[in-house]
Amino acid sequence: MAYRTHSPHSLDALVRDMIVKAGWSPQEAHETAHHLVLANLSGHDSHGVGMLPLYFQALKDGNLSPASRPTTRLDAAPFLIVDAGVSLGQPAARNAVEQAAAMAKTGGVAILNLLDAHHIGRIGHYAEAAAEHGLISLFWVNVAGRPPIVAPHAAKEARFGTNPHAIGIPVPDGDPIILDFATSRMAHGKARVAFNKGEQVQPGYIIDGEGRPTTEPKHVFPFAIPDLPLGALLPFGDHKGAGLSLIAELLSAGLMGAARIDEKPAKSWIINSLFGILIDPARLEPDAELRKSRIESYLAFVRAAKPQDTSNPVLAPGDKERALRVERAASGIPLDNETWSQIKAAAADHGIDADSY
Ligand code: NAD
Repeated sequence: MAYRTHSPHSLDALVRDMIVKAGWSPQEAHETAHHLVLANLSGHDSHGVGMLPLYFQALKDGNLSPASRPTTRLDAAPFLIVDAGVSLGQPAARNAVEQAAAMAKTGGVAILNLLDAHHIGRIGHYAEAAAEHGLISLFWVNVAGRPPIVAPHAAKEARFGTNPHAIGIPVPDGDPIILDFATSRMAHGKARVAFNKGEQVQPGYIIDGEGRPTTEPKHVFPFAIPDLPLGALLPFGDHKGAGLSLIAELLSAGLMGAARIDEKPAKSWIINSLFGILIDPARLEPDAELRKSRIESYLAFVRAAKPQDTSNPVLAPGDKERALRVERAASGIPLDNETWSQIKAAAADHGIDADSY
């Protein structure tokens, strides 16, 4: 599959202009563009600008509206509950995390529940935002508004979303540890990227609608197999990833009555609810120098493990994304032609010529 390399700067300008033209504010456009382009820079193309055509389809279908605004349900430290009201996800989630961070800086801890946001993207983005404030963060997220796509352990059919999980630990005057992953072996968006590229996925990631192993990503996209039963992604770590997915569904949405995966989707949208805990590490160990040396000495111990293969070094969570950001800031962001043509069509609907950026 052919692809073209784009400059991060021009993609950011294009996404911002598309979002403003569609009716959102410049601030909402800035946050969303920054989030999506940073996801591409970090190597997570599944959660980058390629998501924009899906957001614009939801807008076209009347399922996502620039007029929707989050409302605070409870602001009583340490609890912050925000109903996003299916507003644009990245600004809703970033604002909620910023509010929770201010609460945690004051009181040592904040417990955040963001309900019913439209797709909020890469969850590590919010762990990075918390780490910039010097805060530890733990996030669990569900994915509703779509059919189940991940099979429980030992099941032949899906019952979960890809329910991601992220944890960030700041290192004083250093790079934070950012662990951030879908609880499926492969993020659904990565299967979309493989499908758009016409590629197979690795064995062990997908089952078809009969529960048989397959390497064809089409089995997890209803539009690609309209006459066949939908297959499923498999959970990572067998029963362990499946258990984490179940917990994420209940913690983020299930307890509070937000959109859940077992409700039939009313509209074509992706709904995320997020449960987060933000902690000021200075309340645990006030001496920042000690915290830094304790974390860094342990990371050095881990990274010094002999690699299986010298071309594949032992990394800490977050290292890979940071290295790719440096590489792609210089070399550009590769987008396959299918993804680019979907972005161009969405831009053209709003009178924008994407090729002119
Ligand atoms: P992944 O499998 O690429 O794992 C990423 C994590 O593993 C990162 O913390 C990374 O630093 C670490 N990592 C990667 N390679 C490593 C190595 N060699 N050694 C040590 N650590 C390593 O991630 P994924 O499961 O494909 O998820 C991709 C993105 O999708 C995430 O940002 C996630 O938040 C996002 N997501 C979002 C939604 C949503 O609905 N909003 C749903 C699912 C996933």
